[in-house]
Amino acid sequence: MSQPGDITGEVARRVLVPFGTRPEIIKLAPVVRALRADGHHVVTIDTGQHFSSNMSSEIASALGLSVDVTEVLSSERDDRLGQIHASATRLVREYQPDVVLALGDTDTVPAYVLAARRNSVPFAHLEAGLRSFNERSVEELNRRVASAGSSIHFAPTERSRSFLLREGISSERVFVVGNSAIDSLVASGLGRVPLDERKGVLVTAHRPTNVDDPSRLRRLTTLINELSQQVGPVLFPVHPRTERQLELAGADARLSKDVTRCAPLDYFEFIDHLRHARLVVTDSGGIQEEAAYFGVPVVILRGSTPRWEGVENGSAVLVALAHDDGVSDALAAATRLTTVDSQSQVAALMCPYGDGTTGQQVANILSSSTSDVLLTLLEPDYTNGARPW
Ligand code: UDP
Repeated sequence: MSQPGDITGEVARRVLVPFGTRPEIIKLAPVVRALRADGHHVVTIDTGQHFSSNMSSEIASALGLSVDVTEVLSSERDDRLGQIHASATRLVREYQPDVVLALGDTDTVPAYVLAARRNSVPFAHLEAGLRSFNERSVEELNRRVASAGSSIHFAPTERSRSFLLREGISSERVFVVGNSAIDSLVASGLGRVPLDERKGVLVTAHRPTNVDDPSRLRRLTTLINELSQQVGPVLFPVHPRTERQLELAGADARLSKDVTRCAPLDYFEFIDHLRHARLVVTDSGGIQEEAAYFGVPVVILRGSTPRWEGVENGSAVLVALAHDDGVSDALAAATRLTTVDSQSQVAALMCPYGDGTTGQQVANILSSSTSDVLLTLLEPDYTNGARPW
């Protein structure tokens, strides 16, 4: 998959790997494992972005990601980005890595790209080039900030590579390596389940746009109640943010007794439920990739997604809860995706997000002396009259 240039020479680098949230841990664990196996000196940092242990430290230990530095933020949520950036600056100066490697689009990413570059340390971005084109999305901004500051872009798919090239990123800096979410699934040993052993609907929702807005939260609970009536038994592991909002909403957004609601599940338990489901209804990003791996169709509770591959191959359908029609649209999509024909069509699709070798590809690329030039931050010299355009 990874393409530009030949991979030559073996270099052991000092790599600083920060992570702040559940999906970053799940996706970085196999990358860190491959880097360490190839002799790189990796320092992992829990940036403290997530407050509850079942969303961070418990997952890290379940996935075998040893944490070298654990930062604790004050409970002042409004200043979270500032706090992560201050800690990033201190840690980049202390460890003087050859490269900072971060994944995705949470606050950890812009905090570390700015801290790295302001200290003349190159930055490499995993899951690069995802674009939802949603101007209201902070994650989209974070992705673009990461792209602006990256020396190496590890794009999961050709589609994400094409978005980066369209923005003027030079092609020799972009490597298509798949998404390391798939490495973790392959490592789990869990595969696709025969269609007749699948049942029910797995629901997750935690995007502020869906759960912080009372009307959308009401639509979400109406939809979940209807899914359990019309499509099949619903399991709803509730994200802490959603839990808080449901409590605040009270009777305005009540789930029916037929819906099985639980705390966030352990990763392996979660993916086992996912592969046994007939349908996933979610606003999560990572779950779209995991559902594609297991051949389970998805109703994406958003008007846009940075993961277009599932929408393009027909395994995922976009439905926003911005209007009341969203509930009936989502139910119609859920009904369509759970017919026998749709189930077998989606089960026959290849996963477009990777093949489980992302961590090793990243380690190979960083091991290569060819990457030296990509990781050198050059001051240009146009005094000879040459121009960059
Ligand atoms: N996940 C989990 N337990 C749960 C729900 C999700 O372990 O109860 C995992 C899931 O398998 C996926 C990741 O959490 O790998 C997705 O995280 P989230 O939805 O919080 O973030 P996003 O991917 O949207 O950034």
